[in-house]
Amino acid sequence: MENRKKVILTGDRPTGKLHIGHYVGSLRRRVELQNSGKFDDIFIMIADAQALTDNAKDPGKIRENLLNVALDYLSAGIDPAKSHILIQSMIRPLPELTAYYMNLVTVQRVRRNPTVKSEMKMRGFSEEESDNEEGTPVGFFCYPISQAADITAFDATVVPVGEDQEPMLEQTREIVRRFNGIYGETLVLPDIMLPGNKASRRLPGTDGTAKMSKSLGNCIYLSDDEETVSKAVMTMYTDPTHLKVSDPGHTDDNPVFIYLEAFAGEDNPDAKALFEEYAPDYADLNEMEEHYRRGGLGDVKVKRFLNSVLQESLSPIRKRRAEYEKDIPAVYEILREGTAYAEATAERTLNRVRKAMGIDYFG
Ligand code: ATP
Ligand code: MG
Repeated sequence: MENRKKVILTGDRPTGKLHIGHYVGSLRRRVELQNSGKFDDIFIMIADAQALTDNAKDPGKIRENLLNVALDYLSAGIDPAKSHILIQSMIRPLPELTAYYMNLVTVQRVRRNPTVKSEMKMRGFSEEESDNEEGTPVGFFCYPISQAADITAFDATVVPVGEDQEPMLEQTREIVRRFNGIYGETLVLPDIMLPGNKASRRLPGTDGTAKMSKSLGNCIYLSDDEETVSKAVMTMYTDPTHLKVSDPGHTDDNPVFIYLEAFAGEDNPDAKALFEEYAPDYADLNEMEEHYRRGGLGDVKVKRFLNSVLQESLSPIRKRRAEYEKDIPAVYEILREGTAYAEATAERTLNRVRKAMGIDYFG
């Protein structure tokens, strides 16, 4: 398996429009990797089948958001000439691979997955069915296994995602080792790629809750207009103990500073220019944080800076979106081409898998 091709697979569930958490957690990295020219193949998956596992009653929502997510990708800089955008449910080999992998994972093992546990809790899916809670759809429970099919179908070597996906990657790696152990070296072992800074691994909501999430209404969307973003920033949760400007403040659990770390932190190549232009009193984020902690720096001032920083990132995204929105059939054509390429790739993997398992009866 040496001289292995370098392949990226990653994606999003079309359960809503993409927000700045998705952007810093994964999307921004994908665009950088795409433009680095260091990868042989890049697959960006719109995981509609996975979205249906907990939205079976609402297929209209998934259909509508499929286009939203595709527009978000293209606006953020995913280039269809360099990356294949694909629709998960249209790749027929995926459910078949999932079915074989299911035999290599125990119910007990899926139950231990911390992300599945917390997502079940969030969705009101209980272990036992009761009057006021719904039971867990089997498809939802098994989604970490179908994710292993997604990753391995394309021979992905690198999966750039946020922190909540760590248990999914671990599960995939276990399946790969198990499969290769039983049937011989067939599947490629993927590596997770987390964002460089901690803030971007799990961006909190504007309300200060642990994760910005479509389902919690605490998001700034990539498609929000300038005024909506500015309003969301100016009403953001900050340090509740920082009442007067002169009070010493906290920066650690303060989402305003966490967003600044994600968008203007020291590992950000634009950070220096952003401070020079919008906050020339400070050389970098550390200096601004120190001032806030010391006291004497007001929330409004910090929020205005954050607003400028976000608008700098979002304005080119908005411009590209306006262009793509003019020709929606062209967007569907991009999806059609990406999906066809992906299907052929997954088909080859499935043939390899069937051969390894000795179920390729007719050669
Ligand atoms: P859902 O509530 O439907 O699960 P979601 O907001 O969790 O939606 P996903 O489509 O499940 O979004 O995740 C897409 C990608 O975005 C994953 O790589 C995930 O790790 C990343 N991601 C999602 N939310 C955040 C966040 N708040 N901060 C950083 N990364 C995030
Ligand atoms: Mg999720």
